[in-house]
Amino acid sequence: MVTSCRNHGLRRRPVNRNVIRLKHMMWATPYRTGGLRIRGHRASTDVRDAIVRFSRWLRTAYTFPVRCPVYLSPHAELTTMHGTTASATFFAPWQPNVEPYIRIATGDYRRPSATRDRDDALASYLHSLAHELVHYWQWIDTGNITERGVIVRATKIVDRYALTTDHP
Ligand SMILES: [Zn+2]
Repeated sequence: MVTSCRNHGLRRRPVNRNVIRLKHMMWATPYRTGGLRIRGHRASTDVRDAIVRFSRWLRTAYTFPVRCPVYLSPHAELTTMHGTTASATFFAPWQPNVEPYIRIATGDYRRPSATRDRDDALASYLHSLAHELVHYWQWIDTGNITERGVIVRATKIVDRYALTTDHP
């Protein structure tokens, strides 16, 4: 579920870092303002809508000091740069000024007829996003990612969100 690439070719010059207020010590050195961006017009509409709603809440509850696009893929699974498959990935750059990104496969979504089944199905995509975001915050703090504690943290995030809405 995790990818990183030593050979990432992007190198950008940091510009005007004074405008970015760092709340705590970060390994990452963002060169522009942060934020969470959802991309993917060919993705499953149900999944995208659920993730857009979730993201609206995430922006109010958590900080995104480094810009992080979330690419929603129309495919049923993703191929990682190691040649394996995954339902979601986090790209963790080796350079602190390169922006990371998240990919989530949405093509395996089949709309269930029962509302409760639909909620469960959509919630699994929210879990995927929360999981990769925990890696995102790990990467911002340390430049590294680990699976330790990720499932617990991701579940807490989705559970917090569930208190605010009837359906994902
Ligand atoms: Zn993971």
